[in-house]
Amino acid sequence: RAYNFNAGPAALPLEVLEQAQEQFVEYKGSGMSLMEMSHRGAIYEGVHHEAEQLLRELLGIPNNYKVLFIQGGASTQFAMVPMNLLQPGKVASYVSTGSWATKAIQEAKLFGETAIAASSEADKFTRIPSAAELKIAPESAYLHLTSNETIEGTQWAEYPETGSVPLVADMSSDILCRPLNISQFGLIYAGAQKNLGPSGVTIVIIREDLIGTPSLTVPTMLRYSTHAKNDSLYNTPPTFAIYMTNLVLNWVKAQGGAAAIEKINKEKAGLLYAAIDGSDGFYRGVAQEGSRSIMNVTFRLGSEELEKQFAKESEAQGFVGLKGHRSVGGLRASIYNAVPLASVKALVDFMNDFKRRNG
Ligand code: PLP
Repeated sequence: RAYNFNAGPAALPLEVLEQAQEQFVEYKGSGMSLMEMSHRGAIYEGVHHEAEQLLRELLGIPNNYKVLFIQGGASTQFAMVPMNLLQPGKVASYVSTGSWATKAIQEAKLFGETAIAASSEADKFTRIPSAAELKIAPESAYLHLTSNETIEGTQWAEYPETGSVPLVADMSSDILCRPLNISQFGLIYAGAQKNLGPSGVTIVIIREDLIGTPSLTVPTMLRYSTHAKNDSLYNTPPTFAIYMTNLVLNWVKAQGGAAAIEKINKEKAGLLYAAIDGSDGFYRGVAQEGSRSIMNVTFRLGSEELEKQFAKESEAQGFVGLKGHRSVGGLRASIYNAVPLASVKALVDFMNDFKRRNG
């Protein structure tokens, strides 16, 4: 298999793909594929509820939170959050940390007043603002942050205390990369296609008191209450994506859960950052120390020419997805949960060799 460093959709565990292949045409002696079954039938509902229970178990989600499966990707959550949580007279507060935070803010502006509680734009989004920089307006309906900026390669090491203001987090590119204290959050959302499964489903974890009753003009499908009341079965859910997510969650459990996964993730990220830092300036990390992501490692070379050559040569040697996002350039290795340690070691070898030949 290729060394897959894609930013998303991203690598899935080989065991999961093989299991899905084995079950695809006929699901557990049922005479049909799970993809051909009613979402109201006992077999599909079993998978649906197992996925929810596993998420609860792996992330320690308390009983006063609902776990929802919604379509439309994290981009739809950029709108659903303010549509459901931003009450008249309140302000939607955001931490501006990079490309994805900016998109979330732009969308919130469609629905009411927004405020920037802190920003690292002046530093070209190479860092996460410190807790001391955060100025949360007292009339905030919520404070939104982007747990991991997939494009810039920064990640919150610790989440801020927000007092009575609910903390909302976009965890699309780092959910389940480490244990979480869910009680710190009012709402968490994450598109599945990095750490949880294929694209097509978005996980929302919401504290029950925030589900509320949004304005009557909010469409039925865009209300958290609709999905919460109906166990995410109000309409036809994305059964394939939820089934695959369930397999991935079982895989995470078999690895030892979130703490065990974090240990491997730190080892993988540590190897790459060590290769960058130990290269005498041949490779330069983009994110500042203390804000470095353990999911997306962004780095640069001395010239764009050399970066192009790195991308081309790495591709020829079986490495996929190392070119940085088109908006920022440079190089990026996305090392989500399912990327094997062996792939990272192979990349480090390639980096060292490339440096020897071009340094
Ligand atoms: N938020 C973050 C942090 C992301 O990385 C992405 C996608 O890459 C998105 C939001 C958008 O997700 P989607 O494509 O599911 O709408």
